[in-house]
Amino acid sequence: MSRFFSQKYSNLEAYTPGEQPKDMQYTKLNTNESPFPPSEKAQAYAAQAAHRLQLYCDPECTVLTREFAQLYGIGTDEVLFTNGSDDALNFAFMAFCDESHPAAFPDITYGFYPVFAELNHVPYVEIPLNDDFTINVDDYCGINQTIFIANPNAPTGIALPLSDIERILQSNPDNVVIIDEAYVDFGTDSAVGLIHTYDNLLVTQTFSKSRSLAGGRLGMAIGSASLIRDLNTIKYSTNPYNINTMTQAAGVGTILDDAYSRRNCAEIADNRAYLTAELEKLGFTHTPSTANFVFAKHPSYDGERLYLELKKRGVLIRHFTKERIRDYNRITVGTKEQLDVLLKNIKEILEETA
Ligand code: PMP
Repeated sequence: MSRFFSQKYSNLEAYTPGEQPKDMQYTKLNTNESPFPPSEKAQAYAAQAAHRLQLYCDPECTVLTREFAQLYGIGTDEVLFTNGSDDALNFAFMAFCDESHPAAFPDITYGFYPVFAELNHVPYVEIPLNDDFTINVDDYCGINQTIFIANPNAPTGIALPLSDIERILQSNPDNVVIIDEAYVDFGTDSAVGLIHTYDNLLVTQTFSKSRSLAGGRLGMAIGSASLIRDLNTIKYSTNPYNINTMTQAAGVGTILDDAYSRRNCAEIADNRAYLTAELEKLGFTHTPSTANFVFAKHPSYDGERLYLELKKRGVLIRHFTKERIRDYNRITVGTKEQLDVLLKNIKEILEETA
């Protein structure tokens, strides 16, 4: 830290993104990216847009917003595009949390929530998940806090039914409830259909996972027009040009080729079933995931050691050091070929120590 760094950030512990090493070609199953390239239409639209990069991008994302609103059957004033959904989540912490609206989220969830809370000097509570990593819905009812729930949750992949989300929304009418649907497209019911019923519901989604655009950085917040206006106030007070021209174009191409993304999601769901079945044969247990990752542990092989051994052999998975989950690893569901490389290496590692 330099002597110039503001005191207000001196205790800030930054988020650690999943590693993106360049020292060798890894089988990369650690950051929940799509194993499939962006749709050809997305690539072509982005390439065309490169010719206009001398001009500022459209701060209103007019075409993207129109196409997305049509696809989702919502109003153009009910969605805001952001630089990845991380941007939308940060805006929500800025817009809807303060001393009298502290944030609340599970103790085991997306690691960026506490960082956004600290960054924005927002008080927060971490509510423990049950022993099986499910949410105890009663813990969130009538708590009068701004609630952040990843659905399905990360890194467990466990989903909450919409009826439980409705209970939480109904019992906290004076607080915004943010449902982070980064992984929703792989088999969870979306809460987007509830935005016209609950004016305190904000849903965030992303093009990073199911739509193969992690490097393009495109996310969105979906909610009532008045919540979206608040987020726009934050956006226009920080960076109105937060989505570059090429990414806006890639987003339009992706939406126009929606069937491609849906096919890919179906393949990932099949591969998830294959991966969990194979891991079970090797003795692993896992949480019931509806995401594009599996959260698994072996009864006799240490989680961190497995991660390190696989890394040595060119396979990357994600290990977290937090006490409650240190026995586990989060494995992104890739192509069948990638999963076979992973499984072959796990088998060899387990046999070496048998
Ligand atoms: N929410 C959750 C639960 C995530 O795991 C991620 C990915 N790290 C994000 C949001 C943010 O993803 P992005 O900014 O790429 O949209």
